[in-house]
Amino acid sequence: MIEPGATIGIIGGGQLGRMLSIAAARLGYKTHIYDPHEASCADDVAAYRTRAAFESVEAIRRFGESVDVATYEFENLPSQALQALGEKLRPGVRSLEIAQDRATEKQFIEQCQARVAPWRAVSSLEDVEAAVAELGLPLVLKTRRYGYDGKGQAWIRSEDEIGSGWKAIGEEPAVAERGVAFAAEFSVILARWADGRHAFWHSPENAHVEGILRRSTVPCSHVVGPQVGDARKAALRIAETLGHVGVLTVEFFASREGPVVNEIAPRVHNSGHWTIEGAVTSQFEQHIRAICDLPPGSTELSARGAVMNNLIGPDIESWVQLVADPSLHVHIYGKGEARPDRKMGHTTRVTRA
Ligand code: ADP
Ligand code: MG
Repeated sequence: MIEPGATIGIIGGGQLGRMLSIAAARLGYKTHIYDPHEASCADDVAAYRTRAAFESVEAIRRFGESVDVATYEFENLPSQALQALGEKLRPGVRSLEIAQDRATEKQFIEQCQARVAPWRAVSSLEDVEAAVAELGLPLVLKTRRYGYDGKGQAWIRSEDEIGSGWKAIGEEPAVAERGVAFAAEFSVILARWADGRHAFWHSPENAHVEGILRRSTVPCSHVVGPQVGDARKAALRIAETLGHVGVLTVEFFASREGPVVNEIAPRVHNSGHWTIEGAVTSQFEQHIRAICDLPPGSTELSARGAVMNNLIGPDIESWVQLVADPSLHVHIYGKGEARPDRKMGHTTRVTRA
């Protein structure tokens, strides 16, 4: 067990690192943020920081020596450099390697006997043409690496869009994936301990606009509810096969044929932000508990439900009205410039009565 007073290293200094840090502090831990940027929004709430490139094996090694356990808050990290952290890294490098390449990820999910949308790996215009012929339309191209919030994606809805779609994703190695006519989207968020103990939160139903999460609602609707059981089984098989320690999120489409896995995130997730006020133990605290091997906290709802709304780009300008609304918990990430697609904060309304 890693006891309070110890230092937890967090690779990545975005809002997830910030909220992990706050949760760690509540339990008496110090955190050390590793991030290449001049200033990161997690720095403001952490005891220590290292500013260095993610690729720097030497800097990662030194960081590893200065912390008692290390974790990461996003996926686009060079796994080779992270090897320098050895056993101190939780979750391990395997969870990261699988999740950071969409082709590897889909293969892995299929090996875990979970369903994904029909897909092909593509690396040329001819491959995309063949994928359209085999999978049908509409389909979506997604770069294998570095995509997030709908970036690195292009929809192909007719044959005329094959060339422009391939260009739009920068002619990068990609997956071509059939469009799923889903009734709703939802996620399974779980935490797993090294000895196999695990806990699920209630599954949020998630609404995306242009590939970015806008809203998560708990409890989910009757459209999603009947699919959560199968989805949890699939998510747990994925976590166990990875030997995952910490929080793992699996995004699903609720389709007529049952749950279809969209993607996995080996970390706390935007669709779990509602757990800060809406659950007895938040995803952030539970991740700290799991990687430090403390006992699991309760994942029960703290009220009837919760609705989390993201504040994206200019949404943050209405912060004055939002903080004046007594029914909202307001989270402002302290990120500075409100670029159009940037996640600047979120609000959670906990539903009582
Ligand atoms: P990101 O890593 O950017 O979150 P996702 O693969 O989760 O990428 O895609 C973002 C969103 O785009 C999804 O939540 C969903 O709304 C939509 N989307 C992605 N793939 C498909 C698909 N095959 N069929 C239908 N919608 C999709
Ligand atoms: Mg996603």
